[in-house]
Amino acid sequence: MKRRNFIANLAATGLGLSFFESAIGQQLSTMLGATGKVVVVGGGMAGTTVAKYLRMWGGTGMDVTLVEPNATYVSNIFSNMVLTGERTISQLSFNYSTLASKYGVKIKNYAVTYIDPVGKKVSLSNGTTLPYDRLVLAPGIDFEALPMTGTAANQAKIVHAWKAGTQTTSLQNQLKAMTKADTYILTIPPKPYRCPPGPYERACVVADYLKRVKGGGKVIVLDANPEIQAEALNFTQAFNVTHKGIITYVPNAVINGINADTMTVSTVGAGTFKGKVINAIPTHKAGNLITQSGIGLANAPGPNSVPNKFAGVNVLTYESTAVPFVHVLGDSSATNQPKAGHIANAEAKVCADAIIQLLSNGIVNQAPMTNSSCFTPITKTTASWLSVVYRYDPTTKTMKPTGNGVTESNGATSGNYEDMLKWFNNLMSDTFK
Ligand SMILES: Cc1cc2nc3c(=O)[nH]c(=O)nc-3n(C[C@H](O)[C@H](O)[C@H](O)COP(=O)(O)OP(=O)(O)OC[C@H]3O[C@@H](n4cnc5c(N)ncnc54)[C@H](O)[C@@H]3O)c2cc1C
Repeated sequence: MKRRNFIANLAATGLGLSFFESAIGQQLSTMLGATGKVVVVGGGMAGTTVAKYLRMWGGTGMDVTLVEPNATYVSNIFSNMVLTGERTISQLSFNYSTLASKYGVKIKNYAVTYIDPVGKKVSLSNGTTLPYDRLVLAPGIDFEALPMTGTAANQAKIVHAWKAGTQTTSLQNQLKAMTKADTYILTIPPKPYRCPPGPYERACVVADYLKRVKGGGKVIVLDANPEIQAEALNFTQAFNVTHKGIITYVPNAVINGINADTMTVSTVGAGTFKGKVINAIPTHKAGNLITQSGIGLANAPGPNSVPNKFAGVNVLTYESTAVPFVHVLGDSSATNQPKAGHIANAEAKVCADAIIQLLSNGIVNQAPMTNSSCFTPITKTTASWLSVVYRYDPTTKTMKPTGNGVTESNGATSGNYEDMLKWFNNLMSDTFK
């Protein structure tokens, strides 16, 4: 089976079997004889996967270095369940030891501070430089500033918890301190933001927790978008039926001020709201490394593009449309695909294959496919899901949804919840193991 067919199958069926992938990769590496230095920046869902697959499919001729400041990656996926005590941060923590020991990826626990695309090298926070033949940037997202006022101490209490870690623990503690008389305000930024169903999922698990543990409470969802951005049927049902009386959903609620002293959120036209907890998710942009270095910001194609915030890429290779030999993957890139961990893993495989081809003078696959699946807990025992498969469209040069586009489950069930646990284990194993 050719690698491109394999990738298509892998994408179409979800995550493949690593034994099978390993056998194919070794066979193809011998055939291709790819050689070159690849530096991967960012050890999240996209960067870790591309580093692993470059070695697994490309073989020992591929000199792959992963640069990531943290020794441990904390998964955002399932982090909403840390808020409600159903998971711990340590259960969501993954390290890079298998990447090094099993696949021979060199790990550097530093940040990349500067990119020299002419000299084809990057500077690290320890003062050293790394040369590359191909550079892959996968630094995730950073945020625009919120329009916030109040004392520094009060402002520090208002967190997004949209990058799992210390803010997740802070928000968990704030939720624990709520009573049934209190209100939790969640603000959702304008799209594109990471994990389209994620904020609605958070509203559901917080509402479920308040009902189960506190005997009641209120969750006000202030959405800057005009409507629910993913799984509209399932979340409408969850808000209006499952969590009726707890969740109030307010669309078109563009935030124009957060007063951390009075704990009020004001919106353009949708009113002013007061809460015990304000969980404000700011507007997203590509990881600072990308916006500060100006890589690939102009002319990003696709409806999800926001000029000067995300990196334009050629989705056949994920090479930047502005800077040659630099590829951008995952949440930092501007494509028609969602900003999500599952699809970051799929994009990374397309990119790994393309880089191996480019470094061995092979021909890049002209028909890549990717897919995204997202399971969302609605209560402590039920979940719903969405799924979509993308195929490259040569006319528009974008990834287009196949078939009926995004499919969502018929409601939230305990069976979906069981499937969700298996899906998470498979995805994280495919990325980190
Ligand atoms: C609450 C929540 C729930 C979610 N649930 C789901 C879900 O159910 N399904 C799903 O598919 N997705 C989900 N997501 C989205 C998913 O987590 C992201 O889309 C995914 O992590 C993006 O992968 P990435 O590699 O682009 O970025 P990340 O995974 O964020 O990784 C970026 C990495 O880059 C590193 N980095 C940054 N700057 C530098 C630098 N200068 N030098 C070196 N390294 C750097 C960071 O330390 C980080 O490790 C969820 C997100 C949230 C917040």
